Amino acid sequence: MAREGEYRIINFHGIGEPRRELEPGEADYWLSRDRFLTIIDSIASHPQRESVSITFDDGNASDLLIAAPELRRRGLRAEFFILTGRIGHPGSLASDDIEALTAMGMRIGSHGVDHKDWTKIPTPALRHELEASRTRLQEICGVDVQSASLPFGWYNSAVLLEIRRAGYIAAYSSSGGNAAPGSFLKPRTSIRFDTTDATLARILTGQMPIWRSVRSEVRARFRI
Ligand SMILES: [Zn+2]
Repeated sequence: MAREGEYRIINFHGIGEPRRELEPGEADYWLSRDRFLTIIDSIASHPQRESVSITFDDGNASDLLIAAPELRRRGLRAEFFILTGRIGHPGSLASDDIEALTAMGMRIGSHGVDHKDWTKIPTPALRHELEASRTRLQEICGVDVQSASLPFGWYNSAVLLEIRRAGYIAAYSSSGGNAAPGSFLKPRTSIRFDTTDATLARILTGQMPIWRSVRSEVRARFRI
């Protein structure tokens, strides 16, 4: 159950037909346009709408082509975590697109440069992922980039320390459950193509099934 002040962060990836080759397992996180619209309708009309935040990972072209206009139509905002190594590549956002998202009132965060597992790369490479992506996004948007989302949701204490050292004030995981205001680590729930309406309803009210909470804890601790 959610405690006072806690909120839920819903994470999306791609919408519609991918316009690039997907990574192994990635297709599970792509939604049809219709399914996406149904889900954001549920969020927009939810009685606890103020306790739900929305994010997107990877910087897919569908962020601007589909997501942002539909969010705006419903009075919703989101934070988009961009992979700067993909900027301008087919199927991904171009720098003009990122500017357009900012102009639409959307927030921009870093997802690193090349979609690497940050727990498995040497510290200098991790610093490059964190610093180069942030610099590039700040140049494009003209505003301070303060948040990072963890590729594949993986993290450990050393990764979190480096994210702090790079000057970010929040790190977004994919561990599920509720997020606490002001906390550095922000757990999110990623929506999959097979996330049912019943599961979505529990996610939006912060009533995740116990097994899921336990699995998130185990995953966070042991990185499985
Ligand atoms: Zn990602």
